[in-house]
Amino acid sequence: MNTEILPYSGESIIKAAEIIKNGGIVGMPTETVYGLAANALDENAVRSIFEAKGRPQDNPLIVHISRMEMLRPLVREIPEIALKLAEAYWCGPLTMIFPKSDIIPDVTSGGLDTVAVRMPESKAARDLIDACGLPIAAPSANLSGSPSPTTAKHVFDDMNGRIPLIIDGGFCSCGVESTVICFRDGKIHILRPGGVTAEMLSQFAEVEVDKAVCAKPAENERVLSPGMKYKHYSPKANVIIVDAHGESFADFCTSHKCGKTIALGAGVEEQGIFIDYGSTPELQAQRLFSLLREADENGADIVYVEMPTRDGVGLAVYNRLLRAAGFEVVSPDD
Ligand code: AMP
Ligand code: MG
Repeated sequence: MNTEILPYSGESIIKAAEIIKNGGIVGMPTETVYGLAANALDENAVRSIFEAKGRPQDNPLIVHISRMEMLRPLVREIPEIALKLAEAYWCGPLTMIFPKSDIIPDVTSGGLDTVAVRMPESKAARDLIDACGLPIAAPSANLSGSPSPTTAKHVFDDMNGRIPLIIDGGFCSCGVESTVICFRDGKIHILRPGGVTAEMLSQFAEVEVDKAVCAKPAENERVLSPGMKYKHYSPKANVIIVDAHGESFADFCTSHKCGKTIALGAGVEEQGIFIDYGSTPELQAQRLFSLLREADENGADIVYVEMPTRDGVGLAVYNRLLRAAGFEVVSPDD
């Protein structure tokens, strides 16, 4: 199968919608990362997403909608707080978990009795969902385990020959996946941090962050969000988080070079092994996955990354980095 890349336009959206309505998969831009889009209600279409990605079957997919009326048929119940959050943060990078209705196939929900739903902000994504008139299952459009794609080229690099079409909507403004939340005991429980931050959610209810967000779940531990137990977002290079800043970070990286080494510093001047991954959490979120992919293209053996702040979207950056690094954090003081 040849994989075509078409720029986002009225015509390419119609073409993509035809493919999806016929049970196929399309690479779709969103404001978080690119997704692999298929009809969420079609078991076979959803199965082919899992195949294209090589994704474990028990890792459920997020269902994307473009209008509020699309939510009701997918779920058994909508808590009051979900309506308030939808009003505040939809469309946007927030995914909410609801008890699922019978029209959601078990393959879509990874066998769970719940379904994750999001309304993306990207106009291309909403146009595509509208043109299909269907809820769209769309996990990140990377091969399972590798860094998520933030450009159409990244999708092509992973999916060439596996899907017929990628819609090129430019780069992703958020750059990390959506925040995934569920509701427990009147609290908002963050399963995966993302573009809608804990601080933003705390205006609506008490927020708790799942312990698997910043720590490695123990072997065989039951996690609330199956995606959290898998190795994720990882380039081939060995990623190591360095718990140091400024000169101390620079000295550590220079004295611990090993093979082809790259050091991603927060707001550093770019020279030698040093590459700037952004002076703010927002910039870091936008650049992180792209830089990890570039590290592989440049044949890096080791990628040192300066410890990000955990405020705002920084918590999402930290969460992705921890997994990319296989939880390897070093401190110059050790
Ligand atoms: P991705 O599709 O790559 O953006 O990943 C989706 C994330 O949402 C994964 O971590 C999933 O485990 C999580 N997720 C999807 N549906 C559910 C659900 N029903 N309950 C808990 N987590 C979910
Ligand atoms: Mg993913």
